[in-house]
Amino acid sequence: MNTIYGPGHDRDAVAATLGISWDDARRRVLARIGTYVAQETPSAHQELLDALASVVADDLRAAGATVTSDPAPGLGTNLVAEVPGDVDDRPVLLFGHLDTVHPVGAFGTNELRLEGDRAIGPGVYDMKAGVALLVEALTLLHERGERPRRPVRFLVTCDEEIGSHSSRGIIEDHARQAAAVLVPEPSMPDGGVKTRRKGVATYRIETTGQAAHAGIDPGLGISASQELAHQLVDVFALADHARGTTINVGMMGAGTATNVIPAKAWATIDVRIAEPDEGERIHTALMALQPHDPRAKVQVQRTEHRGPLVRTAGVVALYEHARGIAAQLGHDLGEGGTGGGSDGSLAAAVGADVLDGLGPRGAGAHTLDEHIIVDDLPFRLALLCGLLKTL
Ligand SMILES: [Zn+2]
Repeated sequence: MNTIYGPGHDRDAVAATLGISWDDARRRVLARIGTYVAQETPSAHQELLDALASVVADDLRAAGATVTSDPAPGLGTNLVAEVPGDVDDRPVLLFGHLDTVHPVGAFGTNELRLEGDRAIGPGVYDMKAGVALLVEALTLLHERGERPRRPVRFLVTCDEEIGSHSSRGIIEDHARQAAAVLVPEPSMPDGGVKTRRKGVATYRIETTGQAAHAGIDPGLGISASQELAHQLVDVFALADHARGTTINVGMMGAGTATNVIPAKAWATIDVRIAEPDEGERIHTALMALQPHDPRAKVQVQRTEHRGPLVRTAGVVALYEHARGIAAQLGHDLGEGGTGGGSDGSLAAAVGADVLDGLGPRGAGAHTLDEHIIVDDLPFRLALLCGLLKTL
């Protein structure tokens, strides 16, 4: 057994599962990741997202998939790839997003950079490596003349990092029909899968008052900033840390000049919940906010929401199944939870069993330090192949 970081894996067992050598598996996945990373894809950059979607669609067709493209104007293209299975039963559904949070040129070069055991590049960890792993898994099966056990549907989406507005309907429809949902988003830092995710909802609160000169006519003004300050005290009081409910006000603003009583003020609110009921409690409370000064107005709008991924019995069963496959590959697959949302959360909200965090080990998502651990790739590829062959 070769231990790299934390739990390692058995290279011979990985090679036997894949039908190619460990080195070949590493080289092939790395080359594919390099191709996908070299084409930068910031969210909402339609031209760049269309271009990469077309490359991935060609790769999936070469792997024997039927691919349909669904343009999302202003955002990019969503793809639905289908591969028939050995049994004609409910499909296994997989998600991968092509968009990244990095503006063009953020890394200076978009060539995948190798430093020691790391591969560094925009979106490599979140989640181009995950997309490349799945395309490679389907390619390998196709080359061997094999099929997954169940039919596979792979949704490749373009707007996960900005709320999945164009892909949400497709994700939910397919999730309702799926036997299981697998998400090769980044794994836990120790390589474990994600069996819990917090739900996320974002809101914008706006207060409206009356502008007036702060020195000459203070009595004529109704301060929108003062009203907002009162409202935010009430908003923060909705948090319940014991139940995993946290609230952040990340951005705020008001007015036009220091010596003017502001007519408008605003703030953005980020709510994270661990329990589905909490989402409803917070939403109802935010929608019912009333002005402290009856002459002022308060408006609240929900801008994004994803429910929590709850560790249900179905999720645990999927995890135990994956853990069994990993054990045969000489790897002790852990599990964990995160405060971040993903499209796995959308699938969980419509009742699907979801195993998230199947992508490679790495760190630095959404930062310029974003990287994956290269020697983890062959194991991840074998784990995905094993899941597709047995679920
Ligand atoms: Zn992601």
